[in-house]
Amino acid sequence: MHKNATHWPPGLPPDMAIPETSIGYNLEVAATRYPGRTAIAYYGSEIRYDRLLDEVERLADHLQHACGVAKGDRVLLYMQNCPQFVIATYAILRIGGVVVPVNTMNLVQEVRHVAVDSSAKVALFSQELAPNMMPLLGHGIEHAVVACYRDYLAPDTDLPVPDAVSQAPIAVDGATPWTDALSGSMPVRPVDVAPDDLAFLVYTSGTTGAPKGCMHTHRSVLASAIGCREYCRLPKDQIALCALPMFHVTGLQTGVNAVIHDGSTMVVMTRWDRQCAAMLIERYRVTSWTAIPTMLFDFLAQPGLAERDLSSITLLSGGGAAMPKAVAERIQALWGIPYVEGYGLSETMATTHTNPVHRPKAQCLGIPVQNTDAVVVDPDTLAILPPGKVGEILIRGPQVFRGYWQHPEATAAAFVDIEGERFFRTGDLGYVDDEGYFFIVDRLKRMINASGYKVWPAEVESLMFAHPAIQEACVIGIRDPQRGEGVKLVAVLAEGQSTTEAEVIAWARAHMAAYKAPQVVEFVDRLPKSGTGKVQWRELQARERARE
Ligand code: AMP
Repeated sequence: MHKNATHWPPGLPPDMAIPETSIGYNLEVAATRYPGRTAIAYYGSEIRYDRLLDEVERLADHLQHACGVAKGDRVLLYMQNCPQFVIATYAILRIGGVVVPVNTMNLVQEVRHVAVDSSAKVALFSQELAPNMMPLLGHGIEHAVVACYRDYLAPDTDLPVPDAVSQAPIAVDGATPWTDALSGSMPVRPVDVAPDDLAFLVYTSGTTGAPKGCMHTHRSVLASAIGCREYCRLPKDQIALCALPMFHVTGLQTGVNAVIHDGSTMVVMTRWDRQCAAMLIERYRVTSWTAIPTMLFDFLAQPGLAERDLSSITLLSGGGAAMPKAVAERIQALWGIPYVEGYGLSETMATTHTNPVHRPKAQCLGIPVQNTDAVVVDPDTLAILPPGKVGEILIRGPQVFRGYWQHPEATAAAFVDIEGERFFRTGDLGYVDDEGYFFIVDRLKRMINASGYKVWPAEVESLMFAHPAIQEACVIGIRDPQRGEGVKLVAVLAEGQSTTEAEVIAWARAHMAAYKAPQVVEFVDRLPKSGTGKVQWRELQARERARE
């Protein structure tokens, strides 16, 4: 029941029951039903479902017996997209552990924050990220496994492989090589995993403050993975291009968990490369691709695209940021299919809304997916608004997270009671039309959306305070022709200090993930403050908008 709409488009599927299983069990089912089917295609090599399950069991054995991972323990997973990411995820879940995916663009400070906040004692990481992980080994992280992408690569591949993937294995002090971790043969001790047990802690800042772990259960993950499939009319044997990062909920759900649930195939890309993406689509006859708009802009701009056979794709979907109308029209002209936009958050393990594939609307978030309710309310009074009126989008459904890990105040602030039901506050401003389609127009929360990567100004400010010359910092959004939005730092220098914009930008890029680092710096004498001394970032943001 969706409260805002007055009538609904025809052909929407009814609500459905979420299976009472665990994510790990889905893999067992897929491997039993389709042992010989390719689960993962990786730059020319193929991993069948029977091998995937076998390697999951072997790694689960290592994590359980050598690393002591018990039910409920958090385990860091810090890798780019690769077969080991999938194997590690399912091995951790198999023994009741909780997967903590870490953004691979994060540097030491940011990884340390996630490790400390989640109190993880075990980490699995890929070798090119070792410099960011090594300071934690023996300092909080007690056991670690290091993976080399090349272990899963066909030696004779003719596909363009990223440098990190072709790198030979390197030894990392204090970490067990992946191949050794897989060499054990002790059976895994049985662990009872129930639908309401924790499965993932996904780090996001939500609407405020430092990154916090969204608690997702096996139930919420499964509900979100399958909650939109009827809208998208996804075939059960899809071949999915997995180019979005697996550490983020959209890539994880559409590229990994939904694929394994169906016993389908994922075509994994470690790094985005538009030419390689076109080759993979052609070679593997990819049927579905979930992408972010900037990826598609880049893909469409490549020379020679018209000569590629992309006809196997029947579903092209995406979200995370708005898709310009002109690009959606080019997609329709090229493929003869619509770009199906969706919407969701880390707190909802990706999709809460999507456009029904038979009746999509342009530049629209879509309709709440099965089992999901969404309303638009006045953010101050919480009164439900009529269609067409802009307010905060609230969501209720089985994919909504349980709360932020060990942050009860933030959790309490994230939920409200509407007519006796608990709704999640998205912090996004939008409206719903008469047919129940949602549109986003702005944000209440303090967040910058840099081509789908979310930057939280408060986090960047706290990292910038470590710069020796900076006394006060305020981060705001600017328009960026490539990324949609970009990051600007407004800074007050400490007395007697001097520096330059270029130096501050270089410093920031060395101390935080590149997408968060300010690209423009303005030095001011003072920041506007409220009577209580709070920096008035809205004032600076409004001034910036007026200048643009
Ligand atoms: P994340 O937690 O990283 O998945 O970011 C969630 C946020 O992404 C939402 O709160 C929105 O602000 C934004 N977002 C998601 N989907 C869309 C979309 N289709 N159009 C515009 N913004 C979106």
